[in-house]
Amino acid sequence: MTDIAIIGSGPAGFTAALYASRAGLNVTLFEGAQPGGQLTITTEVENYPGFEHGVMGPELMEIFRKQAHRFGAVSKYETISNVDLSKRPFVLTNERGEETVAKAVIVSTGATAKLLGADGESEYMGFGVSACATCDGFFFRGLNVFVVGGGDTAMEEANYLTRFAESVTIVHRREEFRASKIMLERAKANPKITFMLNTTVDEYIGVTNDNGIKKLTHLRLRNTLTNETSNVLADGAFVAIGHQPNTSLFTGLIDMDDVGYIVTKGKGTATNIEGVFACGDAQDSVYRQAITAAGSGCMAAIDAERWLEAKHELLVTSY
Ligand code: NDP
Repeated sequence: MTDIAIIGSGPAGFTAALYASRAGLNVTLFEGAQPGGQLTITTEVENYPGFEHGVMGPELMEIFRKQAHRFGAVSKYETISNVDLSKRPFVLTNERGEETVAKAVIVSTGATAKLLGADGESEYMGFGVSACATCDGFFFRGLNVFVVGGGDTAMEEANYLTRFAESVTIVHRREEFRASKIMLERAKANPKITFMLNTTVDEYIGVTNDNGIKKLTHLRLRNTLTNETSNVLADGAFVAIGHQPNTSLFTGLIDMDDVGYIVTKGKGTATNIEGVFACGDAQDSVYRQAITAAGSGCMAAIDAERWLEAKHELLVTSY
């Protein structure tokens, strides 16, 4: 039994854990498949307030974790694979079938990088195709790589890859960019980066050697205006086209929008299920920043704490 179960361990989850545990509540946080969340696969975070000179993503998350633990929050390196939110207290089941009973639940499961779904993508994933430059960039020293996308992630990944790669080509499906001016300008100013606009990847092409090891060698590109296709040599392709909220566990249980972002009520973090709150990228399709995730984690903890306070008698008698 725990007062608050928090599912997800990014800035939202750990901030919720910090606030709730500091308020004297018993907090259990489930770290999930990617402890620390998306910031653990990024490099330098320059825009998290309080770090004048920037901070490395994994280091920032370790600080989040330690700060929450300092006030008694407990992290479990487990993934919740089933939830029963039909009655209170709620029951959360991990991948080993072990149950945790919680008076309130905070969902902070974040989001995951989207893929193109083009032919060969899954086949060459890890063999030249990647969705994480900071994870895999090192393997492309002196090679020619492509980054797909026109947002901040694509610009950031392209810049990062120039530390290793000989050349980086940004492939974007139209002429206007979603990326912020500063990130776009930084990419444009980088002599190793070139742009291919109105272009998308139709197919990832490669070879398999005698030992059965696959390797990406080409991309089949398509001009989105003329539909003309061409093959280009490519040692690596990084897909950087946005993210999908990690909310499938709650499909049919918690109200979501068409894309899968959890819908919260009004200005708060309450979901359609009383006692279940949502924060961070799992419910934010607009801002998706570490600082906004942390802010909404704080809100979820306060909302949950107030709700528990109001409902405490009811919960105690119903156990
Ligand atoms: P965005 O949604 O902002 O951009 C996604 C890009 O991928 C768009 O250019 C989009 O094209 C393109 N795209 C989407 N689907 C496809 C597809 N099927 N085929 C080809 N191209 C596709 O996602 P980001 O991950 O870049 O950014 C998300 C949020 O995170 C933003 O708010 C961003 O500011 C923030 N961020 C901030 C960073 C920082 O400040 N350091 C770093 C990284 C992200 P189109 O424009 O045509 O739709």
